Amino acid sequence: MKALRLESTGHLFVREVEKPVPGPGDLLVRVEACGVCGTDRHLFHGEFPCTPPVITGHEFAGIVEAVGSGVSGFVVGDRITGDPNISCGRCPQCQSGKVNLCRNLSAIGVHRDGGFAEYVIVPQQQAQRLPASLPPTHGAFCEPLACCLHGVDMAEIKPGSSVVILGGGVIGMLTVQLCRVAGATRVVMVTRQSEKRALAEEIGATHSFDPTTGDAIAGIAGADGLLPGGADVVIECAGVAETMRQAPKLAKAGGTVVILGVMAAGETIEIEPFDILFRELKIIGSFVNPFTHRRAADLIATGAVRVDRLISRTVSLDEAVDVIANPPRKGEIRVLVVPN
Ligand code: NAP
Ligand code: ZN
Repeated sequence: MKALRLESTGHLFVREVEKPVPGPGDLLVRVEACGVCGTDRHLFHGEFPCTPPVITGHEFAGIVEAVGSGVSGFVVGDRITGDPNISCGRCPQCQSGKVNLCRNLSAIGVHRDGGFAEYVIVPQQQAQRLPASLPPTHGAFCEPLACCLHGVDMAEIKPGSSVVILGGGVIGMLTVQLCRVAGATRVVMVTRQSEKRALAEEIGATHSFDPTTGDAIAGIAGADGLLPGGADVVIECAGVAETMRQAPKLAKAGGTVVILGVMAAGETIEIEPFDILFRELKIIGSFVNPFTHRRAADLIATGAVRVDRLISRTVSLDEAVDVIANPPRKGEIRVLVVPN
């Protein structure tokens, strides 16, 4: 089969490799689509540890083509989405229900072969069924949506909550929609590109703010701002120092800040401890997708979260090399690789 294999830092090639054979409990899945995520670019540049040679791609969905021995609950022809994060089930974190913090966490598309290929092996416990009627590319959004869902769960959004979302990439766009589904009535998207602000408003944001035209803190949380006094919940989805610094200042007293965006390990920002104490802010990190994949699949299957407008373009495996080796184009939300 054809696959995109990362052979060492900066060396990504389309190769003809053995078609994998499903072992006990495994599904052999014909990949319908696999999203290109920032992590794939980090892996390419050696900024995130992985075990090359490895076929990357962890946001995939496809059709079950064969099943290994002992598989129950899936049959050939099922459309599935795969949760790439595999926990060990035995370590203290897994035993306390925090599978995303597993000491032995490994991921499909990082530590073992992933979805930038014609076929991928998915252990049955990592799979969730999707309806046959769903457009074939939509399943590729289940993994990023499951990560956003964990963040929104941690934020404890209630009907009537107000939310500020910093960063209009795919994570911000999915989070906007989840906040509305969770009952938030005011959702402000802060992002620099006007196309992204317009899209956010189209899919659920009630307001948007351009941080290049004025101070976001005054414009949103100021007395004459969009949410005077700040928001119940602020969700950082940009992963840059500027928005990390802004996030606590955009939350109202007693509010919650959730950090979804990733800054490089070792990078730091300044915070004002007095402000966090005096206004009793909760600052919470949210890492990947513990037990959220099934709900993410259902949100996409039912159309409760819309992903059609988030697909910027689809590319072949050959074209994907260039996509992964370069930064995203202006305005681009998500590029999907369609290998077959
Ligand atoms: P992305 O496409 O890079 O989106 C981030 C967006 O933030 C950019 O598109 C940019 O849009 C906006 N931005 C950048 N600087 C800004 C600023 N100063 N003010 C306001 N907006 C700014 O990335 P993504 O795929 O959506 O992912 C977002 C973050 O989540 C990344 O750090 C990613 O690694 C992380 N992530 C975390 C998890 C988790 O489990 N916690 C899972 C998946 C991804 P404009 O140009 O319009 O400003
Ligand atoms: Zn574990």
